[in-house]
Amino acid sequence: MGMRDLTKRDSKRDFRRSLLAWYDAHRRELPWRESSDSYRVWLSEIMLQQTRVAAVISHYREFLRRFPTVEKLARARETSVLTAWSGLGYYRRARMLHAAAKVVVRDHRGKFPSTSEGLRSLPGIGRYTAAAIASIAFGEPVAVVDGNVERVLQRASGKLLSREKLWASANDLLDRNRPGDFNQAMMELGAIVCTPRAPACLTCPVVGHCATRGELNGIAKAEPQKKREIHYALDYRGGKVFLVQRERSVSLMPGMWELPELVGANGDHTPLFTLRHAITVTNYTVKIQRVAAAHGVRGKWVAAERLARLPLTGLARKILRKADLL
Ligand code: SF4
Repeated sequence: MGMRDLTKRDSKRDFRRSLLAWYDAHRRELPWRESSDSYRVWLSEIMLQQTRVAAVISHYREFLRRFPTVEKLARARETSVLTAWSGLGYYRRARMLHAAAKVVVRDHRGKFPSTSEGLRSLPGIGRYTAAAIASIAFGEPVAVVDGNVERVLQRASGKLLSREKLWASANDLLDRNRPGDFNQAMMELGAIVCTPRAPACLTCPVVGHCATRGELNGIAKAEPQKKREIHYALDYRGGKVFLVQRERSVSLMPGMWELPELVGANGDHTPLFTLRHAITVTNYTVKIQRVAAAHGVRGKWVAAERLARLPLTGLARKILRKADLL
């Protein structure tokens, strides 16, 4: 795919350059972006964990006014921390925040550990939060993967990547000179351009590197759809239809009733009608012919009015409906 192949070194360099140029020009002004002080970065990351940006904006400054340093936070009573947190929800985060502040003051002399590994030893800090703080506050070249980054990576690569592959490919793409900005740019792109529904690909800075350019349809891309043509005989006489029963031993829809399939030369007649049917990864073109089942096929004649009470396969139902028999 040339330009678009994100495994190529030049492509990765272009991707970073385009993304960061876009971020520099269009990034949202957010209060926690005014400083890369670790206490402030940490606070914003914890607040943003389960809360929308708009709600965090209104609480962040007030919280900082009350607890301007990690020491002040560590010394505060739990009730006042919870009060300052009120409105943000998920109070467990506030308790963890308080506990982490105490650890930082007691065990680290008021300084946050400067690596993602060190940060993970603090209460309430998992893999994502540790990488976010380490890259934004300390410039450690570690990538983050959150829901937004995951979506961008899946779409850009055109693949549904496993959790580990996501982290690996984020780290592979990361701009090692500006890791914090790169991470924020990826998250920002996912939040405002590469949105879950109707991504704004026309304004996307990395559209030239994107294999999807739109919503990635999970099933379709996970496994390429196979195409198959299949023929069925619709034998209808004297108010009755000839149906066959699926073997009880088959794994798919055992014992259910369907129209007899036509194989080989039997399928060469002009179809009565054609319809499409998808089963898991196969798209079927189904052709229905007004012929008798092949000689020797065992089945039974079912009166049209009894069809509704028979356990029919989904496809048989569809065909009989289309033929106005159901
Ligand atoms: S081109 Fe569209 S789908 Fe691809 S990354 Fe950009 S916004 Fe997302």
